[in-house]
Amino acid sequence: MRNSDLLQRSLNAVWHPCTQMKQHANQDAGALPLIPIARGRGAWLYDFDGKRYLDGISSWWVNLFGHCNPRINAALREQLEELEHVILAGCTHRPVVELSERLSALTGGALGHCFYASDGASATEIALKMSFHSWRNRGFEQKCDFLCLAGSYHGETVGALAVTDVALFKDAYAPLLRPAATVPTPDARQAGDGETPADVARRAAAALERHLELHHASLAALIVEPLIQCASGMAMYDPEYLRLARTLCDRYDVHLICDEIAVGCGRTGTFFAHEQAGIKPDFLCLSKGISGGYLPLSIVLTSDAVYGAFYDDATARGFLHSHSYTGNALACRAALATLDIFAADKVLEANKARACKLATALAPLAQHAQVKHLRQRGMIIAFDVATADPVFSRRFYRAALDREALVRPIGNTVYLMPPYIVSDEEIAHLGKAVEGALADTLE
Ligand SMILES: *Cc1c(COP(=O)(O)O)cnc(C)c1O
Repeated sequence: MRNSDLLQRSLNAVWHPCTQMKQHANQDAGALPLIPIARGRGAWLYDFDGKRYLDGISSWWVNLFGHCNPRINAALREQLEELEHVILAGCTHRPVVELSERLSALTGGALGHCFYASDGASATEIALKMSFHSWRNRGFEQKCDFLCLAGSYHGETVGALAVTDVALFKDAYAPLLRPAATVPTPDARQAGDGETPADVARRAAAALERHLELHHASLAALIVEPLIQCASGMAMYDPEYLRLARTLCDRYDVHLICDEIAVGCGRTGTFFAHEQAGIKPDFLCLSKGISGGYLPLSIVLTSDAVYGAFYDDATARGFLHSHSYTGNALACRAALATLDIFAADKVLEANKARACKLATALAPLAQHAQVKHLRQRGMIIAFDVATADPVFSRRFYRAALDREALVRPIGNTVYLMPPYIVSDEEIAHLGKAVEGALADTLE
């Protein structure tokens, strides 16, 4: 098979996500190529014509330990011979029990109840519904509103989109949504002269306090992406914001939902991003990397207090939410194999050196006249490009592909978010590809 054998068939039959499909057909400066992928090994993807691409974005932030990882493959083969899936209403199985126990232990036991779904947006929906319903069960029926940060992203189903603040994804559907209020983001790029990121965080927290003061009686929860708002352009902020938000949510009886779908699983340096603030949320949403990038899986972890608000003789006071593939055994087994790798390879420790290499690889760009806000936390490094080119992101994407790298800017923000198995040479390759693609694109 050749690339050309699949290209037209895909354009005819597959509606690709987050894509204006006409751009795949275009040949102009704004064209977006479609790459047929034949196989993956480690950090590399291979097309049918023998070209290779280093996966600099972990295939939309999901892949942690490379493609076709031998250890995850072996665990899945074993699981396939035991149990592929069973209804989780009324049945249970070993992978879902072990995964729940291990994730709870990773929260220090603070979030000891795991609810399962298949994708990130569903995890957001579950956290919102659970928060609202737990208040209602406790007699606070008026607590039915949600609060999110400017520039937030929590998924694109109708409920999750209501707490997402990305105009391009949201505006067309505004008439369908029950919009949440937004408060200012603590994005450290907003620092004025002499201001530290912690100062920006305190400023944003003061705005949060003003909002809570006025609206806490009708608010069920504040939802945040801890430390990094990834989808709106890798906006990084100081952990001080999370500390203050936790204190304020406690003071005003509002739940704190930490959406760690992107930043969890070691991405920011600690296993959970909220650990860096020394806080515990009321709800923790996980997905993306948790299954190693193998199978759709999401989990909402919550506390005894929330769980207790549903535990009752009345069926209707239970959390009657479900998805057909809830707690899928194969997906849970992939997640267990992923957690095994974290432990066996001391991944968080090893990533410290990897993060330093990433910093070194992009360091030369700090001098570039059009590069602004070069920033990093753990295994995410990003910068903004000062250009008026409306098709910058697609031109950069093509230029990176020409240099054997899969790097998809978000607007004018270029970032790397590689799997945790990239070697020093592969990091250097990514650095050179980014530098070269930037030169090609801006010339
Ligand atoms: C990706 C993402 C989601 C949505 O997850 P899907 O699996 O794409 O529905 C929600 N929140 C954050 C922070 C994400 O990065």
